[in-house]
Amino acid sequence: MGRVYFDNNATTPALPEVLEAMRPYFAEHFGNASSIHHHGQETRAAVERARESVAALLGCRASEIVFTGGGTEADNLAIFGVAQAGDQIITSTIEHHAVLNACRHMEEKGCAVTYIPVDGRGAVDPADVKRALRPNTKLISIMFANNETGVVQPVAEIGKIAAEAGVYFHTDAVQAAGKIPVRVEEIGCDLLTISGHKLHGPQGVGALYVRKGTELEPVQYGGRHERSRRAGTENVAGIVGLGKAAELAGLERGDDRKMAELRDRLERELLRIEASGVNGACENPHTSQSARCAGHPLDQGRRLRVPNTTNIYFDGIDGEALVIALDLKGLAVSTGAACSSGAIEPSHVLVAMGLPPERARASIRFSLGKQNTAEDVEFALSVVPETVARLRELSPVWKGAASTDLRAAR
Ligand SMILES: *Cc1c(COP(=O)(O)O)cnc(C)c1O
Repeated sequence: MGRVYFDNNATTPALPEVLEAMRPYFAEHFGNASSIHHHGQETRAAVERARESVAALLGCRASEIVFTGGGTEADNLAIFGVAQAGDQIITSTIEHHAVLNACRHMEEKGCAVTYIPVDGRGAVDPADVKRALRPNTKLISIMFANNETGVVQPVAEIGKIAAEAGVYFHTDAVQAAGKIPVRVEEIGCDLLTISGHKLHGPQGVGALYVRKGTELEPVQYGGRHERSRRAGTENVAGIVGLGKAAELAGLERGDDRKMAELRDRLERELLRIEASGVNGACENPHTSQSARCAGHPLDQGRRLRVPNTTNIYFDGIDGEALVIALDLKGLAVSTGAACSSGAIEPSHVLVAMGLPPERARASIRFSLGKQNTAEDVEFALSVVPETVARLRELSPVWKGAASTDLRAAR
């Protein structure tokens, strides 16, 4: 049985070049990057080359990059490092749990947190962010692209609002890097997160961009690694892998256009299934939500979604059941955030967008990667429609498209 992997927003396979770059740093070049002898100097140089590569991807100085143990740690470091008791934090209802739960923890520590809602297209309105500002606002943390819907947030507008108000702006760009341009000057952010394994690098390594002059309190203490911003012996092989992945993440290779073409075909064909639709802003004229997207002021000169993601509901089915049924046929997809699957609660992102819980539970995320091919899309198209039809036959709630046209009811 062939296997097709359409869950790249959960994790991506490392590219062969990434693996090759990492290999020598497990044994041959094993030095501690803090040692002054030859072995240490060798790994130190490799870490600094990787730092240059990540800085080149983000358009910042190498000295502004802090390597971390992944995206979650970078998000935590940004939030815990900047906010203190008495401060207000502004975030959104659709953040990854690495941001949401860090903010909840800061509430327990005496911060006030404002959670900005999203519209039906899954986007934050910058005007809401501006209205939420208080004299004690210290930090705005709004993600660049959502992991469940792929919807791109108006980060440049939010960056301007933050700069005018003199508050720090952090953006979780884990799902944006490698898919759309991520340049810290264009965004106007002070802090930005990326993760190795979401851009065809290794798991367990990430980076936080920290704009020069940002006052960041460390979260872990020890040696003076990472300019005293993140203590602990560097994960040299992981950092080298992240650096190589960053080098290959530039959009000049056209991977983003290729993914968009594949994603658009997949989406267009799947939407032929009755009582289905895309969750989130979309540029695809065949989708049910297109009328609501047209001419929206947020769309001016901005991509609506990253090119690899489509989140689709099939009314009357249970998303978990569909994921399992498709897995048996060799297609890996997801009901949303990997960390929350198995949970009974419907996706917090889809619920925040105003989907009724039963439609949120009937939704599936397809997320493509650089390795996917046109054949992969055809395989998905050969198994998804029949599986949806079979699950609907078994469904006690499915009585045909007309009975579940929730769209009309909204
Ligand atoms: C995966 C992900 C993270 C967490 O990154 P890890 O490296 O897995 O800790 C954070 N934010 C978003 C949007 C993600 O998709």
